[in-house]
Amino acid sequence: MVRGLSAVCGIIGVAVERGALPEKLGDVLYGCLKRLEYRGYDSVGIAFIDDLGRLVVRKSVGKIDEVREKIGFSEIDGVVGLGHTRWATHGRPSDENAHPHTDCSGTIAVVHNGIIENFSELRKWLENLGHRFRSETDTEVIPHLIEEFIRRGMSIYSAFKRAVSLLRGTYAIAAIYAGGRRILFARNTSPLVIGLGKGYNFIASDIPAFLRYTNRVVVVHDGELGYVTSSSVRLEAADGKVVSVETRARVVEWSPEAVEKGGYRHFMEKEILEQPQALAQTIAGLGEEVRRAAELIARAERVIFVAAGSSYHASIIGALALTRLAKVPSVPLVSSEARWWLGRWLSDRDVVIAVSQSGETIDTLIAVRIAKDLGAKVVALSNVLGSAIPRESHLAIYTRAGPEIGVAATKTFTTQVAALSYLAATVAKLRGEASRSEYEAVVEDLRRCPISASLAIESGRSLVSKALDVFVRSRSAFYLGRGFGLGVAKEGALKMKEVAYVHAEAYPAGESKHGPIALVEPGFPTLFCACSSEELEMVASNVEEMKSRGAVTILVAPRKLAERVRSADHVIEVPKHLSPAVQAIPLVIPLQMLAYETAVARGYDPDKPRNLAKTVTVI
Ligand code: GLU
Repeated sequence: MVRGLSAVCGIIGVAVERGALPEKLGDVLYGCLKRLEYRGYDSVGIAFIDDLGRLVVRKSVGKIDEVREKIGFSEIDGVVGLGHTRWATHGRPSDENAHPHTDCSGTIAVVHNGIIENFSELRKWLENLGHRFRSETDTEVIPHLIEEFIRRGMSIYSAFKRAVSLLRGTYAIAAIYAGGRRILFARNTSPLVIGLGKGYNFIASDIPAFLRYTNRVVVVHDGELGYVTSSSVRLEAADGKVVSVETRARVVEWSPEAVEKGGYRHFMEKEILEQPQALAQTIAGLGEEVRRAAELIARAERVIFVAAGSSYHASIIGALALTRLAKVPSVPLVSSEARWWLGRWLSDRDVVIAVSQSGETIDTLIAVRIAKDLGAKVVALSNVLGSAIPRESHLAIYTRAGPEIGVAATKTFTTQVAALSYLAATVAKLRGEASRSEYEAVVEDLRRCPISASLAIESGRSLVSKALDVFVRSRSAFYLGRGFGLGVAKEGALKMKEVAYVHAEAYPAGESKHGPIALVEPGFPTLFCACSSEELEMVASNVEEMKSRGAVTILVAPRKLAERVRSADHVIEVPKHLSPAVQAIPLVIPLQMLAYETAVARGYDPDKPRNLAKTVTVI
C-alpha cells in the first residue's frame, strides 16, 4: 500500500476528454477539493479553460461549502481544470491571496502547496521588469516567472521548467494556460501524486482527492516535473531523464473510511508521522520574522513565556534555551496563572512570548492583554496566520506545521520547539553570547532535524514494542526528567493522559524522592527523558532509585549517550543533536507514539479524547 503523504494545503488538477467522467468538470473539482479540505480551509479557488480556450479563475476566502454557490462549481464545464484549498503561510487569508494565481496577462494560472523561500528577491526582480503583483503570497512569483520566460521566446513547457529551476523552498505546483490542454506540474518536498484514468488523468496533493475515479497512482518524487493531458503523462526526473509511468504506477486498495485520513488509522497517527515534513516546512519559513523578534529580545531585561498545554511545554524548552544559550533570564508561565504573576514589575524592557498553536487560546490572549497594559512588548508564536494572538501582539512568528486535526498536539509541539530553538540561537548570536560555531551548531541541528525526526519514528516503534504492554495494563506512570528533558517528560505524560487516560505524572527527576516515590511499587512504569550528557548523568541515579523499588524503568536518550546508562530495563536511543533544545524533538516523538498506541490498544479514539476540545476558548 502506498501511504498518503501530507504537508499543508491541497491542490488538484484534472484533464479529461468530454464524457469520460460521470460529472461535469466543476463537480469533479468540488468533490476532489472537499476531500482535500482537511489540509487547509482558509480559501478555495479554481481555474479552468473554457470552450473558447480562455482561462477563467474563480476564488474566494472561506470554507468550500460556504463559497460553493459563489464559485458556481456546478455550472463549470470544460476539459482541464485546477483547484486549491489554502492553508495560508504568506499573506493573510483573503480573496486576493487565494490560489490560483495568474500572470499579468491572465493567461497562466498556478496553484501551489509549500513555501517559496526566495520569493522576495524573485518578486523584486520581476517587479523591476514591469510585472504587476496582486497578492502578498510567495506563490504569485511562479506565474510571473513563466510569463517572463515566454516573453523571452521560450515555449510554455521550457518556460515552466526554467521558472521551477529558480525556485528555492518546498513546492508542489500545478499550472494551466489559455488555449492549452496540459497541466504542468513540479514537486520538491511537498507531496504530489498522479491518478491515472481512462480518458482522464489527475494530479493532486494526495490520493484520497481522486480515489473515487481511479486507484492507479504514480507518486511524483522530489525534483521531478512534467505534465499530464487527458490521455498521456510525461514525467521527467531531476536529471532530465524521462521516467516510465507504467513501471512506477501502483494500485492502492483503501477503504472509504481510510481515505479521509490518507490511509492512516487516525489523524493523530498521520500527524505524528508527518512531523519530518512539518519541521522542514517550518524551518524553511523561519527567517525575517525570527530576526525581528530576536532583535527585540536581545535588548530585553527579562523574557516571560505565557502558554497553555503542549505550548507551555514547548515554552519550558524555549525559556531554558534563551536562559542558557542567550543568557537572557527567561521563565515559562502557565497562561491561566499569568494574571497572578504579571504585575507592575513588568516594563517595556521585558518581552512576553505568547505561544499558542491556534492563536486563539483565551487564557493566553488574556495574558497578552495584561502584559501589553503593563507596557511589555509581546511576541506571538502561532500556527495560524492572522489569528487573534498574533494580531494583538507586537510581532509574530509562525510555525508552518499545516492544520492539526487530532486534538492532541503533536506536529505543532515539535515545530514550536524548532522555532524557539532557532529564536534562542539568533538572540544568542546577536548578544554575542554564542560563538559562531555554537550558533552554527543549532542551525545545523535544525537542518538535520527533519531527518532525525524520521529516524525517531523508528525509535518510537522500538519503544512501543517494549513498553506498550506495561502501559496498557497500568493506571499510572511517572515521566521524569531534568532541564530540557523535563519539558519532554511533561509533554510525553500529557499525551499519555489525554489520549490513553493513563494517569501519567511528570516530575522533575530530582524532586521525585520528595514525595512521589512513595507511589512506586513493583511493575510501576517510570519513563526517563534526557536531552544531554549532563542531564543523563544526573538522571542515572534516579533510574537506580526507581529500579531498586521495583519500577519498570525505561530511558529515552540520545544515541551514544544512552549506552552509559545500561541499568534501565529498556533503553530507547534516538538520533543525537548538539543542542539540547533541538534534541527535545526526536526525544518526544517516541513518547507521542507510545501514547497513541496505548490509546488504540485500550480501545479509545485518540482523535477525540473525552472532555477535550482542540482550542480552549473559555476561561
Ligand atoms: N505559501 C502559499 C500561500 O501562503 C501556499 C500555502 C499552502 O501550501 O497552503 O499561499
